[in-house]
Amino acid sequence: MRLSEYFLTTLKEVPKDADIVSHRLMIRAGMIRKLASGIYEFLPFGLRVLRKVENIIREEMDKAGGQELYLPALLPKELWEESGRWDLYGQELMRLKDRNNREFCLGPTHEEVITDLVRKEVRSYRELPKILYQFQMKFRDEIRPRFGVMRAREFFMKDAYSFDADEKGAEKTYQKVFNCYNEIFKRCGLKFRAVEAETGAIGGSFSHEFMVVADTGEESIVSCECGYAANIEKAELGKGEREKTTEKEKPMEEVETPDMKTVEEVGRFLREPEKKFIKSLIYEYGESRLVMVLVRGDYGINEAKLKKYLGVNEVVLAGEDKIKEFTGAPLGFAGPVGLKDADIIADYSVEGLVNGISGANKKDCHMKNINPGRDYKPAAVLDLRNPAEGDVCIKCGRKLSFSRGIEVGHTFKLGTKYSKALKADFLDSDGKEKPFIMGCYGIGVSRVVAAAIEQGNDEKGIIWPVAIAPFHVMVVPVKYDDSRIREVSDKIYSDLSEAGYEVLI
Ligand code: ATP
Ligand code: MG
Repeated sequence: MRLSEYFLTTLKEVPKDADIVSHRLMIRAGMIRKLASGIYEFLPFGLRVLRKVENIIREEMDKAGGQELYLPALLPKELWEESGRWDLYGQELMRLKDRNNREFCLGPTHEEVITDLVRKEVRSYRELPKILYQFQMKFRDEIRPRFGVMRAREFFMKDAYSFDADEKGAEKTYQKVFNCYNEIFKRCGLKFRAVEAETGAIGGSFSHEFMVVADTGEESIVSCECGYAANIEKAELGKGEREKTTEKEKPMEEVETPDMKTVEEVGRFLREPEKKFIKSLIYEYGESRLVMVLVRGDYGINEAKLKKYLGVNEVVLAGEDKIKEFTGAPLGFAGPVGLKDADIIADYSVEGLVNGISGANKKDCHMKNINPGRDYKPAAVLDLRNPAEGDVCIKCGRKLSFSRGIEVGHTFKLGTKYSKALKADFLDSDGKEKPFIMGCYGIGVSRVVAAAIEQGNDEKGIIWPVAIAPFHVMVVPVKYDDSRIREVSDKIYSDLSEAGYEVLI
């Protein structure tokens, strides 16, 4: 390809709204252009990279026994009602109506469509297992589209779905795709890590997120030398080492703390460290129900764990009015003493806290020397916090390390969630109708491109892994007008091209 003929416009200046390096470089290198918030055009230079990632994925998926198909992007509401997700998906689902007022959405993912197809086409256990996949534009009305194609509203995904007759088969299929994903990201030249992700009711290690290691990643990961790695949201923590203390329980004491609402302010005033505090947060969940959640002052509550315990999809911190109603005091002075035990749950970290400090449920007052068991009894004590520096691995007890990552892929053993909802059954060898056991597996192809740049760049620009570089060689003739130089450069160009290199002159 001749640069002079190529549709390539590069930019010297740094685009204003591009806040991470991959976004800046993709725009400057003429790979992408923005059409609207979270909606991007891939230009020839960018598309070359996208296609290379796509081809690697396709080759590896085929090797793993996958079969490519192509499903519609415009999906009828009825199918989404069958799974219950028309209501559940919320505002991320792009909804629209046709001329007859029939409702549709633009597919953000395709479990419903594929399950519908397979329930109509596959009858017998003899036709199983099947791994079906596609490449397609997905649509999600993200709350905060950002970082260019990394979190876009229209993006290119490879999504795969597997169908098995029994658990054992499904686990084998999962392992196959899991290995295939490792191969894909290795071939793309990325530094990555597969981390355990939330499995909900399924249990076992049947959900993994593939993270490209990068400081700008949106995800926090904890990992251990023993091989354990998890998304910070999902990292399990044990009871931990109870801090050994010889401190005797002292009588409770109320102290005046005028206008001091935060752990920091009260800590400074009382000259006590954060870890002496019982952070008492009030959450609203379900139908206006309230619960007080306790965690040690230097830790943060993990809302994913809280939601799982409460069995709800959403929790929010209660507003001032609700707090007042619940504790009798304004915001900033809540504590467990004097509340109903049933309304309190606690993280393991407060269990061994001798002579703790918390709000007194009274304006401008805190309570000193609070002791669990004696002064309050939470209805449940469990793992409810985020990991922090110094925490140890649940598997082996060694210290956890912290890093950041970009989620480029996700594998999930779905079980019978969609096959049951959509009544997708097959006839098993014992002559009985059974629901398919499913798995789903996604890769954000356009996100992989951005993640590769996030990992490979310096002050001069992008450093491509060769497997996904837009071109292999660039011939730069210094004085192309000189007929001898022109002749030699053109020869180098054509020789290299003939030898199978992708060359830009
Ligand atoms: P995230 O937590 O980043 O929102 P997700 O859990 O919603 O991701 P999945 O539904 O598992 O993502 O989608 C599969 C893959 O698609 C993700 O691993 C990611 O690589 C990619 N992806 C998801 N959302 C976007 C987006 N808005 N823009 C670009 N790629 C995305
Ligand atoms: Mg998402």
